[in-house]
Amino acid sequence: MYDFLEESSRLMHQAAKIGEINPDVVELLSGPARVIGFRIPLKMDDGSSRVFDAYRVCHTDALGPTRDGTRISPDLNLDECKALALVMSIKHAAGRIPAGGGKGGIAADPGELSKLEFERLCRAYIRYLRPAGPDCDVPGADVGTGMQSMSWMLDEYEQITGRHSPAAVNDKPPILGGTLGGYEATGRGVFEVFQAAAEQIDFKLEGARVAIQGFGQVGSVAAQAFQEAGCKVIAVREIDSGVYSQDGLDVNELLQHRDKEGSLENFPGSEPISNEELFACDCDVLVPAALQGVITKEVAEKVKARVLVEAANSPTTLDADELLLDRGVTIVPDVLANAGSVHLCQMERTQGLSDDYWGAETISEQRRRRLVHSYQQAAECAERYQLKSVRLGAWINALKRIEEAVLTRGWC
Ligand code: NAD
Repeated sequence: MYDFLEESSRLMHQAAKIGEINPDVVELLSGPARVIGFRIPLKMDDGSSRVFDAYRVCHTDALGPTRDGTRISPDLNLDECKALALVMSIKHAAGRIPAGGGKGGIAADPGELSKLEFERLCRAYIRYLRPAGPDCDVPGADVGTGMQSMSWMLDEYEQITGRHSPAAVNDKPPILGGTLGGYEATGRGVFEVFQAAAEQIDFKLEGARVAIQGFGQVGSVAAQAFQEAGCKVIAVREIDSGVYSQDGLDVNELLQHRDKEGSLENFPGSEPISNEELFACDCDVLVPAALQGVITKEVAEKVKARVLVEAANSPTTLDADELLLDRGVTIVPDVLANAGSVHLCQMERTQGLSDDYWGAETISEQRRRRLVHSYQQAAECAERYQLKSVRLGAWINALKRIEEAVLTRGWC
């Protein structure tokens, strides 16, 4: 059974050892700075009541306020929030963003709630959490939440405080002080970081065969970007269906087909494919864009791709990572590949604090520049330490930045 917290913590200690990070700093980062657990009572539409467990974990604020996701999913637990908050600290620091990692959410199934119940739950999360504001801790969206949920959360925050505070909540729509480019930031970023990696290994994009697990917000936008660059998307798998075509699938037509039919099934010119078959298929680039821990050692043994681009958070277990690197597979790690949204949140914050909003082109260019720069820095760090793993390069870079902030503040 994949233990996300154990794996993330092991990775941090491995990077800290290689990077010779001060042991007191490592001890400090081994657990979150603050953990908030609370229970939300909710009146249901039929008059009954239910109680939901909720959390907020702030990993470290050494570099700046903690920020990021609010997950609403049935199995959410504290350990998952702790692991995600640690990874967010690394993602921010590796991207040179002055923020720490925050993660939280509610153990609830949005699909079981009516729209009004869901709205009351989102608003109650903010009332019970009482986030300390833009300079302390800023919730954003994650699995189970999106622009509408974050709009309710921002509104609740502004109602409680009586202040206009667009920077208090991230991932809201532009009309409430959000930024342009939110929907496509991560998916486009996945492709841009891959492109930076491809340049380094002299990988030809034209005609490269790409297989993608997950065709949601991240996977579908990344698929469009791969296709626009001349790659052939040959396999796509979602939770309930998957399609394969050796000649390539037309991504835009596949999206239209899914929207119309409700699944990928029976897409003209394709044959069905399972998750296992997708991971093992004869492709050049493999993009897990759905779940954590899916590329285990057993799965990795069958992977034929030359490049693995981690669009999902932590899709590869550490033993699979080692096996793939030994086989010469280039791994574009999650903390760099899917960091488009954290760079966007940084821009959203800057715009929200100044109430001065930028055009789409400025935002996408800045996102691309920042992502490519972070990748290059991590690759250079890996080279400096003679490591095959750009992932370790990113984690070492991040830990060094946090270490410097912690020591400069005199915490250790
Ligand atoms: P989404 O909910 O829009 O899409 C998820 C996709 O995964 C869907 O296509 C779903 O069918 C598929 N999926 C779920 N279970 C599956 C299974 N068992 N087998 C095959 N496919 C399955 O989510 P998203 O926003 O696209 O996020 C995808 C991943 O990227 C998640 O791991 C998320 O944490 C990570 N991520 C997202 C963002 C973002 O900005 N949205 C940022 C960073 C990381």
